Amino acid sequence: MVLSGEGIFPLSGKMEILRDPGGQLKFEQIRALPSRSGGGPAFAPLRGGFSPGFSTDVFWLKFELARDPGAGRAWWLVATPPFIDDVRLYAPDGAGGFRESRAGDHVPVRERETAHRNTIFKLQLSEAPQTFFLRVESSTAVTLALSVASPERYGELASFENMFFGLFFGMLVIAVMISLLSSVWLRQRFFLVATAYLLAYGGLHFALNGFDQLFIYPDQPALADHVVGVLVCLATGFYLLFFLTYLDPQRRFPRLARAVSWGAWGSFWGAIASALGFYPAIAPLVAKAQLGEIVLVLGMSLGMRRLDPHRTALYLLMFGPGTAAVFLQILRNVGVLPATFLTTHLWEVTVIFQIPFTAVAVLMRARETHQAHLAAKSRALAAARRLEQELEQEVAARTAELARTNETLVQWGKELGEAKARAEELLAAEQARQRAQRRFIRTIAHELRTPLSVIEMAFTNIQTRTDPGHPELKPRYLRISRALTRLNSLVDNALAEDRLAESGIALQKEWIRPSALVRQVEQQLLLTERHRLDLRLPADDRPIYADPRWLTLAVLNLMDNAVKYSPEGGPVTLALAREGHEFRLRVEDRGIGIASELLPELFEKFFRAPEAVALSRSGGLGLGLYLVRQIIDLHGGEIMVESVPGQGSAFTIKIPGEAPARQREAAETQPDPVPAS
Ligand code: ADP
Repeated sequence: MVLSGEGIFPLSGKMEILRDPGGQLKFEQIRALPSRSGGGPAFAPLRGGFSPGFSTDVFWLKFELARDPGAGRAWWLVATPPFIDDVRLYAPDGAGGFRESRAGDHVPVRERETAHRNTIFKLQLSEAPQTFFLRVESSTAVTLALSVASPERYGELASFENMFFGLFFGMLVIAVMISLLSSVWLRQRFFLVATAYLLAYGGLHFALNGFDQLFIYPDQPALADHVVGVLVCLATGFYLLFFLTYLDPQRRFPRLARAVSWGAWGSFWGAIASALGFYPAIAPLVAKAQLGEIVLVLGMSLGMRRLDPHRTALYLLMFGPGTAAVFLQILRNVGVLPATFLTTHLWEVTVIFQIPFTAVAVLMRARETHQAHLAAKSRALAAARRLEQELEQEVAARTAELARTNETLVQWGKELGEAKARAEELLAAEQARQRAQRRFIRTIAHELRTPLSVIEMAFTNIQTRTDPGHPELKPRYLRISRALTRLNSLVDNALAEDRLAESGIALQKEWIRPSALVRQVEQQLLLTERHRLDLRLPADDRPIYADPRWLTLAVLNLMDNAVKYSPEGGPVTLALAREGHEFRLRVEDRGIGIASELLPELFEKFFRAPEAVALSRSGGLGLGLYLVRQIIDLHGGEIMVESVPGQGSAFTIKIPGEAPARQREAAETQPDPVPAS
């Protein structure tokens, strides 16, 4: 190629190529090789640019350069991109030999011919054509766009490029700030993903264009491959995550979205593998996966346009051109497309538009989130206000209810106080009445005692005198005698109750035989002609320890009731029994009986059943059974009643027959105790 004037002249289409798979050939051998030889390695013309794809082979390029007589001698050979590992130029030294110059990202910046991010070799051209050799070796994608430029023109291009990158990274920093602030402010995963995506992409472009090596680690060329590998994988992973969080495609394509998410995580694992130095091994796989993912993502985003037209449109605008450019670049890397301006620089041009779009997308999302936030807040506020009002109403209603209840309670309290006062008055009046009644009964009973004894004595006198000569008087005497007995029993009961109420009864217990008790009762009991006494004494007449006077009164009361409440007559049974230490006495009649609902009050003081009151000539005070129970209780026993109205009643008394041990011993020295009358 003959170079004239000033300019930048691409070498594509003007080179010959030779592939050395093992990298065995030395320059001396290469130099001696003819073009298009019959057998063995030989240079062959290279159509178009140099882009053989992923390969670790060594490639030799050969080209001829000459200059116009009017052109300057100094020219530059520029090779991009800068990530090729090792590039060596063999240029004629003017003395028939060749001089070797090294460049590439495996060569420390200091050792390169020019400290520039791109590979640049300085050339001295003569008017006569000279042959140059370029040896290229790399561990991943092999692709080089080669051109010869006059230093002035390249200087202009380089300053334009620098401005371009300045703009690019400036915008990137602004976009990162926007999304980072949004992520801090709105705390949503989307903004974090957007920030990470922008950082990874910025970093990747920084490294792919050789700035990393130039500015960050000029003396550690080994890092370059690792850094590019890690950033390629991270950028891919975050690109996929950004797509997932921005368009939310799982709404429409759940399975494909899952596949994309696996792709993202696969990329992150790839980043770890690259950091550990495995990038050369996984690079072809990464490139193929990227191609598949790009197709998938574009297809899915087209499919989302109905569901979410605005977002999808923005997304396609933002990523469509960039994705297409990346697609071209990957095709170049894998060797499908040659290294041309389109396949080398289009991506960067599209990315410069993509970044402000990303910032816009972030801002729009931030606005949406903020608005949703505000709407939710105002909804919550309205709900809270409603709740507050309801609560206030409820509180007011409850307070009113409480006030009403309080009033009622106060009213009740007043009424209760009045009722209590009334009840107390009534109670006091009743107690006074009872006291007066008892006093009256006691007085009457006491007063009756003397005239009764006088009458009894007079009656016995008259009866003794007139009895033998006047048998016709016998029934009358019997009636008088019964009336006297009834009167005596009334008086006895009244006086006994009075004593019980006033001072209580102090029992005077002694040993009495059951037969003696029965004799006492028989003597005092008056039966009518209609009644018959059925006596059942036990064979076991062991004495019992009891108060004979009070126990006799109790049994007499029961017997008296049996006679009184069987007005039609019939047998009155008095049965005694010993069961172990227990003494039992049962009084049974065939009289009017007692209604079962009256049984609970039967032993209450002054209780009288209506049937009993209705019976003529069966007067009573309702004290008998009350006294019986008191007496039996004092003896530590119990009383039971069974009754069927119209058929009769049976009262059973149980008292312990044994005395405490000491008294029993004393009793054994008294063989035949006699009950006191
Ligand atoms: P009263 O002086 O009326 O006989 P009691 O205390 O001895 O008083 O008896 C109370 C009431 O129990 C009687 O008025 C009667 O209604 C009822 N009563 C007592 N014993 C009998 C009985 N054997 N048969 C029917 N009713 C009886």
